[in-house]
Amino acid sequence: SLVLGLESSCDETAAAVLRGDGTILAEAVLSQEAEHARFGGVVPEIAARAHLAALPAMVARVMARAGIGFDALAAVAATAGPGLIGGLIVGAGLGKGIAIARGLPYLAINHLEGHALTARIPGIVASGAPVFPYLLLLLSGGHCQCVAVEGVGRYRRLGTTLDDAVGEAFDKAAKILGLPWPGGPHLERLAASGDARRVALPRPLLGRDGCDFSWSGLKTAVAQRVAKGDAAASDIAASFQAAVAAVLADRAAHALAMLPGATALVVAGGVAANGAVRAALSGVAASRGVALVAPPIRLCTDNAVMIAWAGIERLNRGLVDTLGHAPRPRWPLEELRGAPGQ
Ligand code: ATP
Ligand code: MG
Ligand code: FE
Repeated sequence: SLVLGLESSCDETAAAVLRGDGTILAEAVLSQEAEHARFGGVVPEIAARAHLAALPAMVARVMARAGIGFDALAAVAATAGPGLIGGLIVGAGLGKGIAIARGLPYLAINHLEGHALTARIPGIVASGAPVFPYLLLLLSGGHCQCVAVEGVGRYRRLGTTLDDAVGEAFDKAAKILGLPWPGGPHLERLAASGDARRVALPRPLLGRDGCDFSWSGLKTAVAQRVAKGDAAASDIAASFQAAVAAVLADRAAHALAMLPGATALVVAGGVAANGAVRAALSGVAASRGVALVAPPIRLCTDNAVMIAWAGIERLNRGLVDTLGHAPRPRWPLEELRGAPGQ
């Protein structure tokens, strides 16, 4: 069965056609980064208009490349939250329009569920699709959570950030160091030529119970150190990255202890692209005897393949939505409707 997936919750416009066996017939992602860069962050109004300008033609292109008509689809899946409401309305509205026109089932997908299930797309990770339950570490620009993935639609949030998301922390630290937005990749490049031992930075919540996160104190420490003017930017970047990696490893270890039956540690989100972070997490996974599963980076960041896949998983379990489903800017994973069993 073929599902069309649409993503428009933040600053990526994306569409994809996926088959139930995991074959990607066609996909497209358009980043709006350049449009937001001069504002130093995503501007909701600009994002919504850009989705509106790009998504319909992108859908037509993706369908043409897949070589199918809308009648060949089994369902349409669109991100319906959480995210910026203007963009969500664009994607969900287009998805519903196609569903109405062709009499297809409509699937309102939670963006975080898309990230949570990506690793289960057949053939996507070499170690094989993780089976439930597994631990998801969601490390993006907007989210920083430890989630127990117990089945489709069945999630328990074990920990979250008390302030910034980890990608946001990278971006803020990078900005303080004078790097362009989004700064995560720039900071990683700068850190490569630095020495983490020359600058001491705090490791917030390291060793504390549970698996919550806090990054604002680390960001403030970076600002103070830069203001002092006695350390090389590359050394500060390296120290920041080392602190983040150490905290993430500690939090992941705690989270794994909270989910003793976990079959794998799955990472998603743009920060999963960071080499130091990956190395630290693979150390934790190895010491706990679980596999570290990291989907390819293009599927770790925002995309529509994951939305189409979540649609397939839900369609397979009869979890179809009505055309009355309203997009939700806030939509915790725990509020999802799941199927009995897995
Ligand atoms: P979401 O709505 O899922 O939070 P997002 O667009 O904010 O979406 P992603 O696209 O998953 O998130 O990730 C972007 C974030 O990842 C940015 O904060 C970016 O700086 C960070 N990032 C990307 N590559 C790296 C890297 N190599 N090292 C550190 N951070 C990175
Ligand atoms: Mg993005
Ligand atoms: Fe995302």
